[in-house]
Amino acid sequence: MAAKIPFVRDMTFEYGAPAQLSPLIRRVVANNPGPFTFRGTGVYIIGHSEIALIDPGPDDPTHIEALKTAIAGERVSHIFVTHRHLDHSPAARPLSRATGAKIYASGVAPRFSEDDFVAEAGDDLGFKPDIVVRDGEAFHGPGWTLEAIATPGHTSDHMCLALKEENALFSGDHIMGWSTTVVSPPDGDMEAYLASLDKVRARDFSTLWPTHGPPVSEVGAFIDAYRAHRMEREAQIVARLEAGQTQIMDMVAIIYADVDRRLYPAAAHSVLAHLIRLVKMGRVRCSGAPALNSIYSLAS
Ligand SMILES: [Zn+2]
Repeated sequence: MAAKIPFVRDMTFEYGAPAQLSPLIRRVVANNPGPFTFRGTGVYIIGHSEIALIDPGPDDPTHIEALKTAIAGERVSHIFVTHRHLDHSPAARPLSRATGAKIYASGVAPRFSEDDFVAEAGDDLGFKPDIVVRDGEAFHGPGWTLEAIATPGHTSDHMCLALKEENALFSGDHIMGWSTTVVSPPDGDMEAYLASLDKVRARDFSTLWPTHGPPVSEVGAFIDAYRAHRMEREAQIVARLEAGQTQIMDMVAIIYADVDRRLYPAAAHSVLAHLIRLVKMGRVRCSGAPALNSIYSLAS
């Protein structure tokens, strides 16, 4: 194993208490820690007096009250949602009602899975933005500019938001400092995910602010390692095929030999995401559409 991702996990915060993190950025952390949310959902508040919110978080009354207290006396002009997962979007509607602000998101419709596997925190199936945001669209408030950057991969609807004045990116679950992100088909797409990593890398941001965990400051090196980790995984899958293995669960047992078996369903979906990409590239053959129990082989 070569690529080591320089994870960042140290985070000082108090649940529900707003903290000023930079001249334009405040954060309130929701008390929903877990295996996919790390310490909890970090809701970002952008600007002063006329403000925007990014990823309002779970529909938890205590959390929503804490947010309302944090922004009391200020006008909310935009509520942005990076993607429709349950730890990101459900508080958008109650906050919209309370503040009158509209909800902005990519609006891309999800691709549903025929199996019951729930990747991550689960989908917020009822989520619908008021305003559908286009890639590259900019939004302004006093002293701040946010640009939407479409970053499909983790989910088909994922978008990040760039804060121009601080050359910073709110990276949602696309890039997280504490962990790799889940890419689980059919809504997750490895090819789109890698392209979205490249898209963000090219922008040369100074700081990434993920929805979970602390910021990433060595952005270029971090994304390079993050990407290298995926390519290494893909090389391991190709090596399994070269060794004559044809099924995902057999590959998982070897590639993830040192991982808790309870994570095998998630690992299998990640391997499937790579295999779908390899089939599209013509490097791997599959009988029928790639699925968890398909038979795979290297294309000669
Ligand atoms: Zn997510």
